[in-house]
Amino acid sequence: MSSQPKLSILFTKDEIEATVKKLAAEIRQDYLGKHPILIGVLKGSFMFLADLIRLLDFPLEVEFIRLSSYGGRKSSGKIKLVHSLQSKVKGRHVLVVEDIIDTGLTTAFVLDYLDKKKPVSLKVCALTDKPSRRQIPVNIDYRGLTVPNKFIVGYGLDWDERFRHLPDIYVVENEG
Ligand code: 5GP
Repeated sequence: MSSQPKLSILFTKDEIEATVKKLAAEIRQDYLGKHPILIGVLKGSFMFLADLIRLLDFPLEVEFIRLSSYGGRKSSGKIKLVHSLQSKVKGRHVLVVEDIIDTGLTTAFVLDYLDKKKPVSLKVCALTDKPSRRQIPVNIDYRGLTVPNKFIVGYGLDWDERFRHLPDIYVVENEG
């Protein structure tokens, strides 16, 4: 692992802001009056979820789910729930909020877990999508930015817990 990775900008904070606005407008149109539960997948989605819900001016609830699947910088493919849901999903409109969909394994696992709780509807919103790495098909109802087959950081996304706080999104050039 390099201790000083080279970062090059991929999406500026203005581009991210415009994308979050676009997604919020789509979500508002579909969920107004439905009192949905937005479920952020920790940790990466915290910043996106925080910005997204501030643009949604109608009643909703926020929950978080935490999974462990990610040792370092590569997906291990083994997923475990480490922080499950408190609120009742049965009979509710549920929107899963993801930072990135890469192989799709995490989202597929989350959707399977939630579907068993019998929500009225279950959809996915992803700020970024890396379709070139998909191992399992995932239907993304609200899709933000498409990323190349590179490792990205910033705006909630980490590299061994670093760089989550950056307001822009970068590619790690010398990932090692
Ligand atoms: P998936 O299960 O779709 O392969 O990805 C699950 C998790 O892997 C994501 O929620 C994210 O935490 C992590 N991940 C996948 N690709 C990237 C990436 O390019 N950058 C960062 N920081 N995390 C990633």
